[in-house]
Amino acid sequence: MRESIPRGGAKVARALSAPLVIGLDVGGTKILAGVVDRDGVVQAKHERETPKRSEEDVVEALDAAVEALLDDRIGAIGYGLPSNLDRHTRVALQATNLPLDDLDLRAHASERFGLPVGIENDGNAAAFAEWRFGAGRGTSNLVMLTLGTGVGGGLVLDGDLYRGWAELGHVVVQANGRPCQGNCHGRGHLEVVASGSAADRAARELYGEGANGHMLVERARGGDAAAREKLEQIAELLGAAIGSFANQFDPEVVVIGGGFGRAAGALLLERAQEAARREALAPADETLRVVPAELGEDAGLVGASLVAFEALDGMH
Ligand SMILES: [Zn+2]
Repeated sequence: MRESIPRGGAKVARALSAPLVIGLDVGGTKILAGVVDRDGVVQAKHERETPKRSEEDVVEALDAAVEALLDDRIGAIGYGLPSNLDRHTRVALQATNLPLDDLDLRAHASERFGLPVGIENDGNAAAFAEWRFGAGRGTSNLVMLTLGTGVGGGLVLDGDLYRGWAELGHVVVQANGRPCQGNCHGRGHLEVVASGSAADRAARELYGEGANGHMLVERARGGDAAAREKLEQIAELLGAAIGSFANQFDPEVVVIGGGFGRAAGALLLERAQEAARREALAPADETLRVVPAELGEDAGLVGASLVAFEALDGMH
């Protein structure tokens, strides 16, 4: 079989004979892995908790998630990591909410599994997926925010994914505000006021220990005035950041995903759009759209699979 492949054709042959990849969305709370085809269809899924104790534990959990899905149809692996990546080496420099420190996951995984490996920031990966298959289809400029344990961000600029740091969760929305989360030493960042963790904190303030963001959203939906006010405060600050992003990147659409973003939905997005338009320069002050992500919790893993296909095809 191998002899019949023309010179330089091994990679092409593998790309053709391997129609599937594994994408992993590595969140601060859970790892969501899936087998995905070129049309972004998720064919199998595997989920496990993200260990928080050490980098070694995280890598072990990632390997176990790959093992759970791996078979001979898989041609590549892609990871969406909640971390700053070195633009050229793709080494994960440091994550805000995970114990990662100069982790070369590509070298580790390609050696362990013998497959091409793609690495991208998790927010970038989600933006990639929503642009190709979701709420951003057909646009040239898109801003994506994922509201989860932290706030991730991703950008599509001039019709391509921006591959550098797009740490949109770490913009200041309250000067000298509350200290940011995890390894971030800033203050008043979007992440500390508009993430799922911020919603959890707001819920605890209202309903005591053990309350969480989901309870806050449920109560607000049920008409609880105090819960609605907390969500409005979050939406105002989210909108302030979105308005600023609109003035920088001129997006046709701003897509909001992540666990908390999905759960809060219109309760958060309508008010955020209103606040964003107040900050945005014309014509975005009237046209800016803030919309929910369409790929649901799969956005990150589908984006990671797009990165895997790029690795399989020898791009990036
Ligand atoms: Zn921060």
